[in-house]
Amino acid sequence: MLTVSHDPTAVESSLLGRELICPLCPGVLKPWGFGTQRTIRCGTPVKNQRFTPRRGRCNECATTHILLPALFAARRADEAAVIAHAVELNIAAGLGFQKIAANLDRPATTVRDWLRVVKAKATDMLSAFAARVHRATAEALGFWPAPADTVGANALGMLMAHARVLAHVHQLRAPGAVLNVTWHHGALMAHGPWLFSTVGWPDRVQHQPALPPEV
Ligand SMILES: [Zn+2]
Repeated sequence: MLTVSHDPTAVESSLLGRELICPLCPGVLKPWGFGTQRTIRCGTPVKNQRFTPRRGRCNECATTHILLPALFAARRADEAAVIAHAVELNIAAGLGFQKIAANLDRPATTVRDWLRVVKAKATDMLSAFAARVHRATAEALGFWPAPADTVGANALGMLMAHARVLAHVHQLRAPGAVLNVTWHHGALMAHGPWLFSTVGWPDRVQHQPALPPEV
């Protein structure tokens, strides 16, 4: 599984142009049908959206991979923006999971699980994205976040810095273009679909179900 653009035509173009590199080997992915259709809970209040991911197959190792748009996170039934909003409400605004669940119209147990995973993985997230922010540009010091009180806040600050670096690099390439990169979108594109999962840190994981089964 790998994270791809949220734009289906860009994904088709990448597949047909043999531009998507296999996560397991140096091969490239070619179109290989579709994964199973799922329902994703989007927005607040919840709007259910049916979604069928594209699939690619490596021309060298023959492994098939689900191509998950950066709108979604692996094994999560809610869109990534909602999970990211919950994380912000928890870390930046200090709200507990029950209040967040009420705000976002989601089950409390689901929100508690999101927050637990991010808390458990905060140190890994911090180090993974600190390395990216540092590597991304010689001007990284200008993007370096101020130290915060908790590991979670430091991790979120670094993910936001990573998004600013991506927007900055884009602007260097396309002067005059204004690009807003959300921290979760940038992080999903960089790290892959396992951003909000217990697995996938620090290394990516393959051969896992892309999205939760229908209930
Ligand atoms: Zn391969």
